[in-house]
This record gives sequence, C-alpha cells and structure tokens, in this order.
Amino acid sequence: MKPSILAVALFCVVLFNGDRPVSGAAASTDATSCNSRKKNSPQLVKIPRLKNTWQIQRKCKFPSAKHVGFAIDVFYKKWLRQFGDKDKKVLSTLNNMMIEWGEKPKAITGGAFDVNGDPISGTARGLTLMPGYIWIWENRYQRIAATALIHELVHAALWSQQGYHGDPDHEGDEFKGWTAKHTKFIREVNTLLANTDI
Ligand SMILES: [Zn+2]
Repeated sequence: MKPSILAVALFCVVLFNGDRPVSGAAASTDATSCNSRKKNSPQLVKIPRLKNTWQIQRKCKFPSAKHVGFAIDVFYKKWLRQFGDKDKKVLSTLNNMMIEWGEKPKAITGGAFDVNGDPISGTARGLTLMPGYIWIWENRYQRIAATALIHELVHAALWSQQGYHGDPDHEGDEFKGWTAKHTKFIREVNTLLANTDI
C-alpha cells in the first residue's frame, strides 16, 4: 500500500472513532464521564453535544458535563433568537471551548468591572480569559444557574463577534458591546436553568 493511502486511511479511522456515538456500556471510560476514582485531582471531561469543548473539574459531583452541555445549548438557542450569529462565530467558539471550574473565587488583580462599568476589587466568580477559555467558580449551591457560567458565555460570545474584547466593563461606556439586554438575557437563561434544577 502506498504511504499516502495509509495516511488517509489512518486519518479517517481517527475521525470516525472521534465521532462515534457514546454508548451506555462504555460510559465509565468515555471522555464525557468524570472518573470518581481520581478523587480531587483535576481532570478533563468532554462536554456532550459540542464538537471540541471540554471542562476541567476536580470532583465529579458538580457540575456534570451533561448539564453544562444543556446549559450551553439553551444559551445558544436563545442568543441566536435575540442577538443573531452572523458567520456562526459564536457557535464556533462554543464548540471549541475550555471551561475550567475552580473551588475558590479568584482574587482580582485589576481590570475587573461591575455591571455598570465601575472598577471592582475583591474576588471574581468567573473570568473570560479569551473567547475560548473561561474560568468559573463552582460555589456551594451545586447549580449551574447560581454560577457565572452564562455571564462568562456572554463575554465569550461578544468577544467572538467583536474580535478584540468581550466588553469587560459590561454596561459601562469604555468598551462597547454589552447592553442592558445582555444583562436581562443572563437573568432569563439562569431562571430557565434554575426551573429545570440545573
Ligand atoms: Zn463580566
């Protein structure tokens, strides 16, 4: 067999393996399952429904990758209806994302603003480090609706659409993008998630 044909064949096998539907029997070893034997060490868990989106979590109890996938799905459907997604940039970001969950809030070292655009200090519940990398504090409620996930996804979506920033000062005047509609949107999505106990 010619080397080039072999290479193509291998490439296809890799692709097809990656796209194989998840079977219940293999659940303990597939990428979308959290391995509880790893106890408190960080592990990468694939988010179902999305192409190449993963989360880094420490314990398996919260949040489940399935619920995160559901929350992102709800986020995108509503975003599409309300704000649109020309060129599918938001969809592409959501499909290629790393979500890191943290046990403790992160100390703010500068450059953080409240919803009105006023600088704040203290600790952060979530951070969008770049459109495809967000950090979220788990907090104690064991509910995605109580975390900053949806808030950070708005930053990530705006960043994908604008290209330069995710509007760190929210409704403030220095950066453009975030409006009162985005603040309301977060409330609505989180209410929806809370109503389904997620
Ligand atoms: Zn923010």
